[in-house]
Amino acid sequence: MKKHILPKGALILAVVMVFALAAQAAPAAAGTAQVRLGFTALRQGRVGLVYVTGEAISDVRAVFQERVFHFYPKDGRWAGFISANFSDDVGTYPMQVWVQYTDGSAETLDQPVQVTYGEFGRSDVTLPARLYPLLEPEIEAAEMEHLFNIFERFTPERYWEDGGFIPPISGEEIGWFGTWRLFNETYWRRHTGVDVRAPIGTPVQAMASGRVILVETLAIRGNYILIDHGWGIYSGYAHLSEQLVVPGQWVRQGDVIGLTGLNGRSAGAHLHYEMAAGGAWTDPLDLIALGLGVNAP
Ligand SMILES: [Zn+2]
Repeated sequence: MKKHILPKGALILAVVMVFALAAQAAPAAAGTAQVRLGFTALRQGRVGLVYVTGEAISDVRAVFQERVFHFYPKDGRWAGFISANFSDDVGTYPMQVWVQYTDGSAETLDQPVQVTYGEFGRSDVTLPARLYPLLEPEIEAAEMEHLFNIFERFTPERYWEDGGFIPPISGEEIGWFGTWRLFNETYWRRHTGVDVRAPIGTPVQAMASGRVILVETLAIRGNYILIDHGWGIYSGYAHLSEQLVVPGQWVRQGDVIGLTGLNGRSAGAHLHYEMAAGGAWTDPLDLIALGLGVNAP
């Protein structure tokens, strides 16, 4: 279960509330907001929609599993998604939904969320001897830390557009999010994204608009591109033969950003793509399926 008595999420929420109070000293208006979950329970690593209805709401944020999720106005209500960390225990977790009203007042609504077993598959992977060094736990840990240092940054703007996210490539899926993988009958690893079989040189498209934040060669992911889509959502593309963008470059959904390849900890030509939301790996297929259509503000 959770290790903190006072979760970091509560602290984040407190900071958010202090800002709100500083901005407007008016007494709190009678809260009209109601929270409704678009799901009964959330599987580990999956995404769920949350709706907030009410009068004169100006902003909504949720804090769940110590991560902040922004909501947006859609079809006369506010909608947002939360995601469950695939490595957190099954159980019921508190969610705090912070609602700010147009008169400057704000309130926090508590809504418990049940997280259930992810039912992740498992597979065996055999790597050639030359790739054995890439199974060292230190290499994996260093690369994860490198990426999570970026995922912790939160861009307050939203860059993805009305259509939500699209798959970066079409083709046969050969690996899924969260799968337990046993490498060379020795090392267990979690799969952080989706694998699609693709001949070397297949164009890879940006899943949504955003700003390229990383173009590097990583030990495990090989030639890698990471895009910041704003609001804490990132998409990454691995094992590329060509990287056609540079850090800081703005891309639009569907732009070709690279070509598939075969490098890093990869035994066959494929595209590995992955997404993080609110500081945790999240199932890209879930985010695509949600169709996070947003009414232009
Ligand atoms: Zn993969």
